[in-house]
Amino acid sequence: MAQALAVRDGRIVEVGGTDEILWLREREYELVDLAGRCVIPGFVDPHNHFSIGALDTLWTDVTGATSVEAIQRALAGAARRAPAGLWVRARGYDHAALAGRRHPTRADLDAAVPERPVFLLHYSHHQGVANSQALAACGITRATPDPRGGEIGRDKAGEPNGLLFERALSTAERKSREGWEARFVEVARAASLGYAAHGITAIQDAAVTPAMARRYADARAAGALAIRVEEAMVGEHGWFERPDDAAPGAWLKLFVDGGYRCAMRLPRDGHVRTSGFLFYEREELAALLVAAWRGGRRVVCHAIGNLGVETAADAIEDAFRREPAGRERVRVDHAMFLTRELIARLRDLGVWLVAQPSFLHDAGGVSPSPDLLLRPFASVLAAGARQAFSSDYPCGALAPLAGIHAAVTRRSRTGVLADPHEAITPAQALLAYTLDAAQAAGMAAEVGSLEAGKRGDFVVLSANPLECAGEALASLEVLETWVGGERLHPAASGTKGANRPLA
Ligand SMILES: [Zn+2]
Repeated sequence: MAQALAVRDGRIVEVGGTDEILWLREREYELVDLAGRCVIPGFVDPHNHFSIGALDTLWTDVTGATSVEAIQRALAGAARRAPAGLWVRARGYDHAALAGRRHPTRADLDAAVPERPVFLLHYSHHQGVANSQALAACGITRATPDPRGGEIGRDKAGEPNGLLFERALSTAERKSREGWEARFVEVARAASLGYAAHGITAIQDAAVTPAMARRYADARAAGALAIRVEEAMVGEHGWFERPDDAAPGAWLKLFVDGGYRCAMRLPRDGHVRTSGFLFYEREELAALLVAAWRGGRRVVCHAIGNLGVETAADAIEDAFRREPAGRERVRVDHAMFLTRELIARLRDLGVWLVAQPSFLHDAGGVSPSPDLLLRPFASVLAAGARQAFSSDYPCGALAPLAGIHAAVTRRSRTGVLADPHEAITPAQALLAYTLDAAQAAGMAAEVGSLEAGKRGDFVVLSANPLECAGEALASLEVLETWVGGERLHPAASGTKGANRPLA
């Protein structure tokens, strides 16, 4: 807790009492009087899909569609607007919200857009629908076997019906975005300013293909990224594939299990049954971890289901034995379905869990089994495991304040209460979205707290979250966001804002 801070050349140089900081005015600091309002470190979002979110603004959004007909109309309109040669791409449908609670099919998409490839992505980003042109472009026919860790949906006659699950959607996802990626630089500036409006000042893009890594280099060279963005690399064949050909970079991303169909182990009818997609066996995953560490990289393991998290924990344990230097070089993201035993194992391994209170905000949800804990934020902290927060945007809500509100109240945006005994305090939630997030991201030397030497990244809030009782957090607002001592939000009218020192 402090009264004032000073920034010079983009970095914090003093944090302390008002009198100490005012003394610095003699060195011609500009004084900004916040009239007693609350300043916190800029939010850090270590699992975000910035590139997808930025490019999403170019694609048709069918979030909220309640019928297949509405999606068809949107696709037909998108086909009229999309430049020649590019795929028609739309995103955000939720089959459970559609009349009949069914997925659209290849035939539905063909009826709307017969003459060019269409790819429609489910809101989860882990399944989608392709039309006939798109299936042909991907070489998917009735003779194509399901890939390991994926499924090609088929009708009763065995013909692909357009639905593609997990690894089966890799090719369609990649091809559908290729032509659009050239516009990344154009959309990245606006997207990063949008993040700043939510108080986010540093993120990690949790799945960057080699092609997108080149676009990021272009965006950086053009000065289009207003906030700090680091990349976790995946291979060129898609998010869920083995990242053997990932671009160089500090972080590698491995998908251990699926998303919507994550790897679960559940008791049912007196038996233990497994479901979902597991992309790696323990040995294969351990070998990939060891190879990544020996290559000097850190690894993000995506693991959602309890079987996925257990496989990750098994592999990490094996890999630590072979390469002790791997400690501090791996983390587990999502870890949505846990058991007390798994939490204890992850604590003993010392790995960060990067969880998403944003999903709690979006949908709430209850565990499918009394033995399974769903997003057990309080239990994880009580066990002494390391837990940071993130959004997984655009899969989850972007605003950190929405996530913090959900983590503290355990209420979704529609008011659904989920396991209230797993509520945590505002201070714990704030820490998880700032300093803990920076630590999980390996960025803590630069960002995550207001300390001399760190970057001048901070946020002015309408009230102090530590003094807000539960529901009052919902009305908390980001008033200003500063990055490297420069105010990004709200943008100064007319000026781009020199790198102004601040006291
Ligand atoms: Zn993600």
